[in-house]
Amino acid sequence: MKKTLALSLLISVLLCGCAVNAPVEREIFAMDTVMMLRVWGNESDAAAAVAEINRLDALLSVTNENSEIFALNRDGEAELSMETYDLLVKAVAVSRRTEGAFDPTVYPLVEAWGFTHDAQAVPAQDEINEALALVGYEQLENHLDVTCLSIDGMLDFGGIAKGYTARKVVDLLQERGVDTAFLNLGGNVQTLGSKPDGEAWTVGIADPENPSQAIGCLRFTGSLALVTSGGYQRYFEENGVRYHHILDPKTGYPAQSGLASVTVLAKDGALADGLSTALFVMGMEEASALWRASDDFEVVFITQDGIIFATEGAASLLTDCEFTVIKR
Ligand code: AMP
Ligand code: MG
Repeated sequence: MKKTLALSLLISVLLCGCAVNAPVEREIFAMDTVMMLRVWGNESDAAAAVAEINRLDALLSVTNENSEIFALNRDGEAELSMETYDLLVKAVAVSRRTEGAFDPTVYPLVEAWGFTHDAQAVPAQDEINEALALVGYEQLENHLDVTCLSIDGMLDFGGIAKGYTARKVVDLLQERGVDTAFLNLGGNVQTLGSKPDGEAWTVGIADPENPSQAIGCLRFTGSLALVTSGGYQRYFEENGVRYHHILDPKTGYPAQSGLASVTVLAKDGALADGLSTALFVMGMEEASALWRASDDFEVVFITQDGIIFATEGAASLLTDCEFTVIKR
């Protein structure tokens, strides 16, 4: 089922227009999702990009028994490579900015709900309480100056790793002399440069009610990360109630913020990814307040009623739909 959902997620991001030079294309399954790469370079550039994704998957995965994160979650402590440490610092920065709506220590809750092993079920309240006692990014704050981390809880970079990876891949491609690329890592879109034919990149935002269809399009040029978090992306149903995978670290339950999806645009992929998860938890009012106090991201919100709202910067890129502009 996971594969089907991931595939529909991928299909939901629609590309329009043709490039002058044909890119090298790759489709792979990594980080528990379908990924699509278009690299305006040669075969070895595309191969290097795929290798980089697989390398980071092995480093950051909660389920890969050889990963640093797996060792940390099993033993309560682990030596972190500089790279994992770097992502940890970025993740904690997002946690601070969002007052814990994004929390990389959420893993005990993710496990309690069974989202890791595809054995989803509503946990007993006792189980949720036990997991909640282990959740709190504050426990990481004291460890940010050392690379050996010991924590009581467990880490999950699932809400930020794909955006981080997308950014690392375009950095690598750039180092190899590639000027143009389009990556869709399971709904985490990252562009590098502008299309060779001079046309804008056009990326569809999935309709939460019908994810294989676009509800609107974002058109832009240049390098940008564009990440969507939505309750429709992974969920299960029990007794006629839908429970999705984005958890509120304060309640221990799937976030109920009135939103169906949040799409964040930012220069940095990790920031866009972490924020998309956090803003979904926070809801539109709190998320808009954070946007007003910031200058490094833009947002498109879709409410559970199907109404679209866009912050000023996102509104200037949004086409093919009706929406309300959120002003500074
Ligand atoms: P995303 O699709 O980027 O919104 O990330 C969702 C994934 O992040 C989930 O499948 C969990 O692994 C993890 N996650 C769920 N809730 C949170 C949260 N509040 N903060 C950080 N990570 C979360
Ligand atoms: Mg995210």
